[in-house]
Amino acid sequence: MAKLVKINEKSGIPLVGSIAFGVIDRGTNILQVRPTTLCNLNCIFCSTGSGINSCFHRTDYVVDVDYLLRWVKELVDFKGKNTEIHIDSVGEPTMYKNLVKLVKEIREMPNVEVISMQSNGTLLTKNKIKELEGAGLNRINLSIHSLNGVLARKLSDTGFYNVDKVVRVAREISKSKIDLLIAPVYLPGINDKDIEDIIVFAKSLNCKLGIQKYLPFKYGRRLKVKNINWYRFYNKLRNLSKKHGFNLIGDKDIKVEKRNSLPLVFKKREKVYVVIKAPGWMKGQMLGVAKNRVIMVEGCNKKINDKVRVEIVDNKNNIYLAK
Ligand code: SF4
Repeated sequence: MAKLVKINEKSGIPLVGSIAFGVIDRGTNILQVRPTTLCNLNCIFCSTGSGINSCFHRTDYVVDVDYLLRWVKELVDFKGKNTEIHIDSVGEPTMYKNLVKLVKEIREMPNVEVISMQSNGTLLTKNKIKELEGAGLNRINLSIHSLNGVLARKLSDTGFYNVDKVVRVAREISKSKIDLLIAPVYLPGINDKDIEDIIVFAKSLNCKLGIQKYLPFKYGRRLKVKNINWYRFYNKLRNLSKKHGFNLIGDKDIKVEKRNSLPLVFKKREKVYVVIKAPGWMKGQMLGVAKNRVIMVEGCNKKINDKVRVEIVDNKNNIYLAK
């Protein structure tokens, strides 16, 4: 079992700098908001290696909602008008008990146009969908990778996963004011036929569909699938679009614009002193803090409140990794 670390004002852990929690700015009008790393499934292809039986992560994080809202507001003010907030998490956003409050208070920020979130759907209910609708949520990206109960359960690697329940959730969302986007991961050689079933299902609900390419990551769960490149992937989507009369490439309603990024506060190879504040997401890592940023320090055996000199090895998108 991973240890649960609560992140709040008192923790002294900033909410920019980590891939696992807080706010991520990738230089567009979309800000990713990550309130928790917790997930209730254990998908055998999970790109973040999250879930109830994760062998990758020794820590899970939950961020205090008021603390998170303060950081979101600051970044939204920096981004300006027509910002989209995408609550994605490296786990499952509906595991966050303050999700409705989070959406409701983000909706009150004048520069926010769209609020969207990802979900595996297992914890959504008719009531929860109503609450999220009332709070001002605009879109749910719902993961369904197969409509076949046996395969879907096998992919989730949990005995309780019930795709019929998630299908009911999809129908419920499609009846609400929240846009539904079904987001399956295409696993070549494993769910080829299932992807076509999902297209037919999405057509019947008149909802959006965003088929994703399976990408193996170093710290994700890897699955043996037929290797196809991006060209073949898009070709497949083009063929399926033609066959089913359903546009599977690009969604004109999702507007991604380039915007100024938060300035970087550390250069690569820069040596900095950080104060250790919490255990890291993975074994051998600790969370360090300096210049109002959180830094994942690899190969670190220091204790909480120790000061340590580290070298920044990555700073892309203000996500800091050090050694
Ligand atoms: S793929 Fe999503 S639902 Fe599945 S274990 Fe990973 S975070 Fe959880």
